[in-house]
Amino acid sequence: MSERIVIDLTDNIANVGKTLPFTGEFVLDNDLLAYPNAVLEKVKVNFDVTFLNPNVSVSGNIICYVKGNCDRCLTNLDKVVKLHFEQMFYKDISANDDGYIYSTSMLDATKAVSDEIILSMPSLFLCQDDCKGLCPKCGTNLNEKQCDCDTTHDNPFSVLKNLKF
Ligand SMILES: [Zn+2]
Ligand SMILES: [Zn+2]
Repeated sequence: MSERIVIDLTDNIANVGKTLPFTGEFVLDNDLLAYPNAVLEKVKVNFDVTFLNPNVSVSGNIICYVKGNCDRCLTNLDKVVKLHFEQMFYKDISANDDGYIYSTSMLDATKAVSDEIILSMPSLFLCQDDCKGLCPKCGTNLNEKQCDCDTTHDNPFSVLKNLKF
């Protein structure tokens, strides 16, 4: 699997204005995700690529395969997150200072896709949005059952209450 997402524009350049599909599987830098217990295993892209002479429009989906442990309850899980992608690649950098550019018929979309993953992936890696996590006292997975521990005094402000000023 490639570590860079490179779109060969040869057919697009021969078919101005025509939308052609581009698909592939890639292994991108794991540091894109800040999850302490999970890694980005691979990335699939399904793009529609249109050569608009001279700029190139790319839109579609980025599918991220993440493997690891839930940030809260540490359950082992595989997760597939689908992100929407829509980007124009400019032939001439001076035309658009902060846009993505390409210079040859091999358009490298790695940076643009990486930026989208950094921007759009959820900040926590959770087994479910409302994961209850582990009991701080006995370690019971609170998604599976409720334990008998009294954790009402464990909120971070309880310490402040006991301080004498
Ligand atoms: Zn969880
Ligand atoms: Zn407990």
